[in-house]
Amino acid sequence: MSSIPGKVHALSFDVEEHFQVSAFWSDERRSKWESYESRVERNVDKILTLLSLHGIHATFFVLGWVALRHPSLVKAIASRGHEIASHGFGHEMITSQQPAQFREDVRRSKETIENITGTAIHGYRAPSFTITPQTRWALEVLVEEGFLYDSSIFPVQHDRYGMPGANPYCHRIETESGSLWEVPPSTLKMGPVRVPIAGGGYFRFYPYPVLRRLLCRAAADGHPLIMYFHPWEFDPEQPRMRGSMLS
Ligand SMILES: [Zn+2]
Repeated sequence: MSSIPGKVHALSFDVEEHFQVSAFWSDERRSKWESYESRVERNVDKILTLLSLHGIHATFFVLGWVALRHPSLVKAIASRGHEIASHGFGHEMITSQQPAQFREDVRRSKETIENITGTAIHGYRAPSFTITPQTRWALEVLVEEGFLYDSSIFPVQHDRYGMPGANPYCHRIETESGSLWEVPPSTLKMGPVRVPIAGGGYFRFYPYPVLRRLLCRAAADGHPLIMYFHPWEFDPEQPRMRGSMLS
């Protein structure tokens, strides 16, 4: 990514198991999390090796559920100088939570991670980017729980998430309880629509030469690229999950 013009770009990873992906969510599968094979540690190991090979630092939004079971993984990430942030605790989408449940979830994830690293964390990214027009109240909860920035508002149209028309660049957001930074994943305006280009499914979907051109265009605007990936995307042997045709 270093040859893409622009300022300093931000690379991030949402640290979760392959069976926790929202597209494959079901209450039945949720009840079996403990019985699935854990693959997150080996996949994060690969990522850490790649990052040190290229001399790159990243932000890891770690799921509290994963941190609790793999404290040495969290320590390994932190010891390489990467930033640790929160991806919530149980990977429930905020759009299916009430404010009190959400507060409990982020507080538990923050405490779990901070108890492992001994350092305060400042950032949060919601499962499936689910801070939407209906769940804007979550930002106020984040301020009250001591977070300094959020990276959950995707300014695009999508069935599970998205806030079309939201400011697509890093900016301050005011809430009743104070302000915080919003760091939205990268998008590009193409005609009347804003297209997501920030990684994850979009990275897997676009042919790389096409994506690279889009990233260069976005970076030429002078705004940093905010990219995200998941450890399971680095795992060609990942067990196949049953899901909808589209997923
Ligand atoms: Zn996630």
